[in-house]
This record gives sequence, structure tokens and C-alpha cells, in this order.
Amino acid sequence: NQQTELLRRKLDISVKGNFVPAPILSFSSCNFHQKLLQNLEDAGYEMPTPVQMQAIPAALIGQSMLVTAETGSGKTCSFLVPIVSYCVKLNNNSNQQKPQAIVLAPTRELCIQVEEQAKLLGKGLPFKTALVVGGDAMAGQLYRIQQGVSLIVATPGRLIDLLIKHDIELDSISTLVIDEVDCMVQRGFLDQVMQIFRALSQPQVLMYSATISREVERVAGSMVKDLTIILVGKPNK
Ligand code: ADP
Ligand code: MG
Repeated sequence: NQQTELLRRKLDISVKGNFVPAPILSFSSCNFHQKLLQNLEDAGYEMPTPVQMQAIPAALIGQSMLVTAETGSGKTCSFLVPIVSYCVKLNNNSNQQKPQAIVLAPTRELCIQVEEQAKLLGKGLPFKTALVVGGDAMAGQLYRIQQGVSLIVATPGRLIDLLIKHDIELDSISTLVIDEVDCMVQRGFLDQVMQIFRALSQPQVLMYSATISREVERVAGSMVKDLTIILVGKPNK
């Protein structure tokens, strides 16, 4: 509707796709767990950033999407907040957590940052995370997953190593995040990413990029039938 159009124009958001929900103006409008709202407040996040305003409600209703917004625009929380919210609602009735989401990022450093952010948002909630990256012993990473986690944050290569050597139940995974998908493509990680995607059963796919790329759009379109495209502000060149 027209109000949504005006709001998007004001926020410099453009969208493509069927039924993309209106941007949210506050975290508290989303029916999140009180503790999640508290964790956002404690982190100093008073208001969602524009990319969060648009991507969070779309992710919450299960849309698969390609989100492009410049570095530093708050993309991490725009996928982590819906994941934490979803997992917390699901884990409410059980102590045993099963992996619900995988976040793939191109480097160990990025994975560490994403996991830290996830821990911050999930503090005091039934939401455990595992980090699967090179440089640390695989045994510890495997043990952590076997103890029950909701989110796995991984580099593609290391996750594949782990999946080849060990039987990890992936049936429960409903969301796959591909962070810095432009970088993944540039570094030649696409085959590994696709291998992981194919091991899952029709997950919601959330792809994030800081740059506009035809190649990335083609890849995204090939993975997902009804792709929502969100572009916020001026992307990196
Ligand atoms: P991107 O992935 O788009 O490059 P990040 O997710 O790393 O950006 O976020 C950039 C910075 O903004 C981080 O330091 C993060 O803590 C901060 N941030 C994220 N969301 C908010 C918010 N809603 N309010 C204030 N700061 C935020
Ligand atoms: Mg990022």
C-alpha cells in the first residue's frame, strides 16, 4: 500500500518479490520474547537499522531472500534476530536443542563475530550455538553440536569436512544463511555452499551481500523459487 511505499522511499529501501511485508519501526512490534528485547536493549540497539526494519519481518514469515546493503548497516542482526526468536519459541517446551539454522560466512574471523553476536542476542534464553571453523580441533566442535545447539556458524569448507567425517543430523535445519555471498562467489566457495544447500531439505535461504552482482543474483535465483530481493541504501562498489 501507499504508506508502505512512502516509508520504504524514506528509508531508501527497494524490494522485489511477492507480498514483502512492511518494514517494522521498532523491535517491540514483533512479538519477540521479552528477554530478546532486553538483550537488544542491553546491546544498545534502540531502533532497528533500515536493513533490519525490512529484512526482519520478511525473514519472520519464512521468505527466502537476497539482501544487499553496505558494510556496517547491521545485516548480521537482521538474520540473527529472527533466528533467535524462532529457536526460542521452538525450544520453549524442550531442553534438547536440535540445529535449526546454519550461518555460513567466508572466514573464521567473520564466523567468530557472528557467533559472538548470536550469543549476545540469545543470552539467558534456550539458544545455544556452535562454531565450526578451521584452526580449532574438530572433536570439540563435534562434541558441542552433539550436546545440542540451535545454531551452527561455519565456514563452508570446515563444515563439509565435519559432515563427511561424522554423521550429523541436518533434518531439523530450516534456515540457511549465506553471509557475504558476493565474497563467497569471488573466493570460489560457491560449490561448497551449494553442496551444503543440497544436503538440506528446502530450507529458507537468507543471502547477504554488500555489493550488487549479477552473478550473485543468478545464483540466488537458481537456489530459490520465490526470491525476495531487498536493496537498502547505496551498496559498496
Ligand atoms: P554489516 O554486516 O552490515 O556490515 P554489522 O551487522 O556487522 O554490519 O553491524 C555493524 C555494527 O552496527 C555492529 O557494530 C553492530 O553491533 C551495530 N548494530 C547493528 N544493529 C544495530 C542497531 N539496531 N542499533 C545500533 N547498532 C547496531
Ligand atoms: Mg556482515
